[in-house]
Amino acid sequence: MTHPPNNSPIDFSRVNSYKAVATILDSLDALVYVADMETHELIFFNDYGQTRWGAPQGRRCWEVLQKNQNGPCEFCSNHRLTDPGGEPNGVYVWEFQNTQNGRWYQCRDQAIRWIDGRLVRIEVATDITERKLMEQQLEEARNQAEHLANTDMLTGLNNRRAFFNLGEQLMKEAARFCQPVSLIMFDLDYFKQINDRYGHAGGDAVLVNISSIIRNTAREADIVARLGGEEFAVLLPQTGFEQATNLAGRLREALVENNTEFNGQQIPCTASFGISCADIPSAMTLDQLLSRADHGLYVAKRNGRNQTASETAG
Ligand code: GH3
Ligand code: MG
Ligand code: MG
Repeated sequence: MTHPPNNSPIDFSRVNSYKAVATILDSLDALVYVADMETHELIFFNDYGQTRWGAPQGRRCWEVLQKNQNGPCEFCSNHRLTDPGGEPNGVYVWEFQNTQNGRWYQCRDQAIRWIDGRLVRIEVATDITERKLMEQQLEEARNQAEHLANTDMLTGLNNRRAFFNLGEQLMKEAARFCQPVSLIMFDLDYFKQINDRYGHAGGDAVLVNISSIIRNTAREADIVARLGGEEFAVLLPQTGFEQATNLAGRLREALVENNTEFNGQQIPCTASFGISCADIPSAMTLDQLLSRADHGLYVAKRNGRNQTASETAG
């Protein structure tokens, strides 16, 4: 406890200094407590604490402040408050959600030598729940904005932007581990006619149906995207040319076998596929892989549609 300067307007000699300090601590809008660092016994517990957690009545900090504790809390900061020689080493600041009332606190903890020489911990904990809630809402909004920026709203697949971001990352990893990467691109056949015959909503239903077919056919690690319009791409990590051709074949057949149901009608739709493969990914960029698959796609269209064409490269 510090003594007031000589020119203080308050005559501290007339009041019990402990009472004065306790009054100050009791009027704070924050929890202040002092606990023996060895026994955890509460030596001081201010009004803020007593109003919210009850009177300590000889109990230890973990019994009063936390829920269902049978011993000192696993998150107790005591070990951080002293140096290797066991002496106080300054203030430790942390944030914590109280297990009794669920509210968030910023805790400022410090070890000091008590009047009788034993080591005690002082905690000053300020309620930061409102700030935490705002931070959480901000984080959710940020996640949602990011999701919207990366997702095709009609089909829920990755959009073009996400395809390039994730794809570049995948190419880098593949180059690092010298693993092959393949790309399947496909474009729906005569889609304009589908729109003309069944309306835009019918066309949309086909796009949604086909998206779920791709999702069900591709593997977890594959990057599936709607690049735009009725053009899709599947980037396949650790996949050589043969495996990619296989998957494209299965996809093509799945489209043939699964018409889209729309307003009681069955809408058939096929697609033309282009495949490209980089056996050594460091030798090729994602753009190059795309343009080769696109060329394959062009060949498949030219040769009559509902088929696969490819270009390989090392
Ligand atoms: P091809 O076999 O040569 O690919 O013929 P196609 O009729 O599919 O020709 P193209 O690829 O040029 O046509 C794409 C059509 O896709 C044109 C456009 O109106 C339609 N389209 C693009 N985006 C959407 C969409 O989000 N919903 C619907 N319903 N139609 C779309
Ligand atoms: Mg088309
Ligand atoms: Mg197209």
